[in-house]
Amino acid sequence: MATRPDPAPLDGRTVLVVGAGRSGRAALALAAARGARTRIASRGPVEDWFTGGLREPDPPPEAHREDAPDPSRALDGADLLVLSPGVPPDRPLVRAARRRGVEAVGETELAWRLMAAAGGPLPHVTAVTGTNGKSTTATMLAELLALDGRDVRLGGNIGAPLSELVLAGAGRGGHLVLELSSFQLEGTAEFRADLALLLNVRDHHGERHATKEDYARAKARVALNMGADGTLVHADDPAVAAALGDGPCRRVPVGGGAGDVRRRLAGFDLSRVRVPGLHNLLNFAFVLEASRVLGVAPRRFQELLDGFRGLPHRFERVESPLAPLVVNDSKSTGLHAVEAALGSLPDHRGRVTLVMGGRPRGRGDAPGPALVRLIGRACREVLVQGESAALLQDALAGGPAPVRGCRDLAHAAAVLRERAPHDAVLFSPGFPSFDQFPDYAARGDAFKKLVTGRRP
Ligand code: ADP
Repeated sequence: MATRPDPAPLDGRTVLVVGAGRSGRAALALAAARGARTRIASRGPVEDWFTGGLREPDPPPEAHREDAPDPSRALDGADLLVLSPGVPPDRPLVRAARRRGVEAVGETELAWRLMAAAGGPLPHVTAVTGTNGKSTTATMLAELLALDGRDVRLGGNIGAPLSELVLAGAGRGGHLVLELSSFQLEGTAEFRADLALLLNVRDHHGERHATKEDYARAKARVALNMGADGTLVHADDPAVAAALGDGPCRRVPVGGGAGDVRRRLAGFDLSRVRVPGLHNLLNFAFVLEASRVLGVAPRRFQELLDGFRGLPHRFERVESPLAPLVVNDSKSTGLHAVEAALGSLPDHRGRVTLVMGGRPRGRGDAPGPALVRLIGRACREVLVQGESAALLQDALAGGPAPVRGCRDLAHAAAVLRERAPHDAVLFSPGFPSFDQFPDYAARGDAFKKLVTGRRP
């Protein structure tokens, strides 16, 4: 529990926020509300930075273009640099800050510090990270706490960034469930969760983490600063154990095999679970372990099992004239999610029409032999589209399922329509959306419109 209220801990300090997305703007507003002089640096035209979303703080921040000839002028007199999660630490401005000895932290860290400095009882913080399943598991846990009548807020990498929650009064008791990406965890220093869930670490994010070990180390920061009273529920995986090293917190390893998961959930009735696949049972298993730490009664967990409907764009069923089963899994931005999605369709073995493709990440992009075999067994045909179409076509050529290259998602949808009806259509891209869409949600919405016959 923190002690004295400190309403303006940044009084007189100059905070430079880098990145003008939702997290950056929230950090700026929070820093201004806590007494800081604010500056913002980002790319592109300044007039675009404050369109939509949070209002510009009053007085307005000093705006600096990161793509100006000498962006490091923004650092003159700055006391603290706050990085949006999308800003890699090797950007020139961040490197210049490091050379000048200006501290650089992530948006989550800033919000955490200001929350801790605000006094009063701190909320109980559960941090959820992993390569896949973060949003689903964090949402499951928040729903469980709500079912149990607790005061709970969900945010971080899902919904509102922590700065927005703190501005809205979070941080006075209750529960905070935070989904944290490795980018957000990279920028933490004093952040401390009471309970942490590390779901899995897959070879992923080759565009920002050089090696799987680097990536696992970023994920392991979820347990940073946790004391003996903290609990870390983590994937029972040697790479995770190596990244975690020693620490005083209690550890609960969770195995991901079908037998492990079913044993852990034994005693609960799984017959009404609506979200498909072993991966979702595994997500539930993590939530069950969390519920024990949080003192939630088992009957509430059963209510969650019966009632949880899943999130849009994660293996979401879509009513469509093209097939009795059409699934929008646009949030699948890595190949591991394609594997999970195909594994969730055992009743359609050999009859799935799979649509894949998006923006290549630059490393470890092509499906490996195990996924190629799985696709061959599960699919009747694969449509590959977008910037990764060629690399997918190369990797899948010669397998049992024919592969057809399409220019983009609209073209793939036209091919789907030509060949209808299908037994089952699965849109699980396995790659980020940025080749054609601003984000996975826009991509999923576009897919849904294309397959339901409504005009996009
Ligand atoms: P994240 O927030 O980590 O991206 P989501 O819960 O949004 O995770 O799910 C992203 C994708 O991963 C979806 O395609 C979903 O079906 C799949 N998925 C969900 N949980 C898991 C898991 N435990 N293991 C593998 N894939 C998963």
